[in-house]
Amino acid sequence: MKYSLKIASIWGIPIELHVTFVLLMAAFFVISYLAQDFYSFFLILFLFVFVVVHELSHSFVARHYGIKVRKIVLYPIGGVSEIEEIPENPRVEWRMAISGPLVSIIIGVVLLGIYVVHATPTLSDLFTLAATADLSLDLARLNVFLGFFNLIPAFPMDGGRVFRALLAEHLSFSDATKYAAYIGRFFGILMVFVGVLFNFWLIVVGIFVYIGATEEAEQTILTTTMARVRVKDVMIRETNAIAPEATLAEAMDIMFKARYHDILVEKDGALKGVVCWDDIMKIKSEMRSTFKVEQLPVRQVSVFPDESILEAYKILVREKLDLMPVVNREETGKVIGVLTSEGIASAYEKAKKLR
Ligand code: ZN
Repeated sequence: MKYSLKIASIWGIPIELHVTFVLLMAAFFVISYLAQDFYSFFLILFLFVFVVVHELSHSFVARHYGIKVRKIVLYPIGGVSEIEEIPENPRVEWRMAISGPLVSIIIGVVLLGIYVVHATPTLSDLFTLAATADLSLDLARLNVFLGFFNLIPAFPMDGGRVFRALLAEHLSFSDATKYAAYIGRFFGILMVFVGVLFNFWLIVVGIFVYIGATEEAEQTILTTTMARVRVKDVMIRETNAIAPEATLAEAMDIMFKARYHDILVEKDGALKGVVCWDDIMKIKSEMRSTFKVEQLPVRQVSVFPDESILEAYKILVREKLDLMPVVNREETGKVIGVLTSEGIASAYEKAKKLR
């Protein structure tokens, strides 16, 4: 199911609107139309343009450190950048996290400058809290507010990420995450209470912060636990291989017996690679008894026994494979076992229980 629609793409990063955001803007438009006053509508529309700029500044820093940004999604409560993986290097994380709020504050100050130049206000004009019906002043205030609000150390908000990075300088990454998540949940509850008294929007943000802190902490701790499991701890020593000159029918026979979707290709005891099920299926069934294994693409993948299964898992997902040969660093042609997605899954379940 797709709940968001793509409206643009910047630096190859898709910008998407979540369906709830579209509904919110549609509702605002109808209300504005009925009242024949579009000021609030445009105020919010422009504010979200600046929210995209805020998110893009996170992306800009992420890209600088070679971290891939999947997409930016706009929700009624703000923007979310989905990044490929959260950097475990605290210095990268706090730079990435702080860039958004800083950019929001800078935008606010620039807009304030524009207001001062064109409206020449008195000092008291600047500090009245009511909406002024001046787009540049209202947007200036909203951006400055957005910047400072995001700096609240409520993990997983920007300020909470900076806070976690500071903790991670002194603690392990998973402990830093655990404590940052406690503080995040505390702020989440606090926001809900303050929201009940003053502002509905804050209740929603509080709930998001509470759930986000809980989920991200669990995920992070699980991943760090997984990263400690070595390939040799979960690999299977018994292996099955096929010669390059064997037929696909023979390969499938072995695959059915071993119950794996892919098979190792070996010639005279030396590893040639992996042939996968999907590639075999592309060949018509009546041709499989004559078609040779070596005529198919053979994937050159392997892992070392002392590598983390998290790294191995990424390769399996990327190559869409079910199994991967494990080889010694000294003798890369000799297979000592296989790592299967099943083995990784059971390690994941164990890590969950150990937590
Ligand atoms: Zn941000």
